[in-house]
Amino acid sequence: MPDRPPEPDAGEGLPTATVTLKPKRARPFFGRHPWVLDSAVLEVAGDPADGAVVDLATHDGQFVARGLWNPTSRIRVRLYAFDPATRLDADFWRGRLEAAVGLRRALGLDDRTAAARLVNSEGDDLSGLIVDRYGDYLAVQVTALAMSHRLEQICDTLESLVAPRGILLRGAERGLSKLEGLHLPDRLLRGTAPAGPVFVEEHGLRFGVDLAEGQKTGYYLDQRDNRQAAARHARGRRMLDMFCYSGGFSVACAVTGHAASVLAVDSSAKATALARANADLNGAARVTVETADAFEKLDALAAAGERFGMIVLDPPKFARSRATLDDALRAYHRINRVALGLLEPGGILVTCSCSGSVSRDDFLEMLAGVSQRARRPLQILECRGAGPDHPVSASCLEGEYLKCVIARVP
Ligand code: SAH
Repeated sequence: MPDRPPEPDAGEGLPTATVTLKPKRARPFFGRHPWVLDSAVLEVAGDPADGAVVDLATHDGQFVARGLWNPTSRIRVRLYAFDPATRLDADFWRGRLEAAVGLRRALGLDDRTAAARLVNSEGDDLSGLIVDRYGDYLAVQVTALAMSHRLEQICDTLESLVAPRGILLRGAERGLSKLEGLHLPDRLLRGTAPAGPVFVEEHGLRFGVDLAEGQKTGYYLDQRDNRQAAARHARGRRMLDMFCYSGGFSVACAVTGHAASVLAVDSSAKATALARANADLNGAARVTVETADAFEKLDALAAAGERFGMIVLDPPKFARSRATLDDALRAYHRINRVALGLLEPGGILVTCSCSGSVSRDDFLEMLAGVSQRARRPLQILECRGAGPDHPVSASCLEGEYLKCVIARVP
């Protein structure tokens, strides 16, 4: 049995220590921003255990908020409640999970045959917790130490709310886990694991999701509605789906959108195998799948004088932090520039960025630069983000990471 850390607030959910802020550092937290960085902390009164409940106070002793302590992370305290009467006990976590699942039900996104994000971290006031539903299974991703201490009660609540066949724990990105001092290998938390891919419906299409080994929690749920939006522009076009992963855009454009043909490219052979399987599952014979590096493939297509009526660019996160922003913007510029050259007149570019540190304005400015350099105008038709099962807290706009711009070259 893997070691399970003790659940530090199994009792009352009341603070065991007070974290005092440096003078003039309280403002974001009165504005309900949930991340208290180590650099804002003046001192800690008490000796809180990892993941324990603590109060946050101004330097002159005024209560600000209640949260959970992590001595390892740069995010020293994650805040969950902003009034001193709220206990962070089992009922509290249950209430937050019920609210999150309730929202998906209200949105009509809690369908047992489909996939949806049930809990979106800060967007659901549950900083550090992600829960995705794939049919009868749940995939849980924990990005905060304090949430890992509460996994048992989180699973109890999820079982009672949605009765899944199994709950799987999927590790967070390696870098993130290290920052939080988290060591959580993938494992089955409850019930049974699926024997093979889990099949889910998305806007009338079917996709197999590899819950055990797939990227993220198995699938790019955040692009669900953008795949459908892209498909609306695909009719009769020759389409290139660059960074295709399991083929979501390709299948939507080929089947729903009636593209003339689709070339789907990803550098991961596992990804292209999934894309092939999903194309076959939906009878999308017009999809050709190729394993190749996107930068090389784009250059090769340009050198060969190929032309497309539609190109989707959905690269992985190029910027890990603000520090790598310039490099990331250069990489976005490069692929978009080549893609623009590959588009025939009237062609459609669906271009995405999932780097949180690249803002919407940065991304649009990059596109303006590409258009200027290429001496080709770009008409922006749609500026999109993740679907409504990925809510973003207005107090934590860092959660608004996905940009998906649909543009046309006249
Ligand atoms: N569009 C996909 C999600 C793409 S995620 C969907 O809708 O599901 C980004 C993908 O880029 C990953 O599958 C990853 O394997 C791939 N990738 C990363 N670096 C790459 C590179 N240099 N060339 C091609 N593909 C790359």
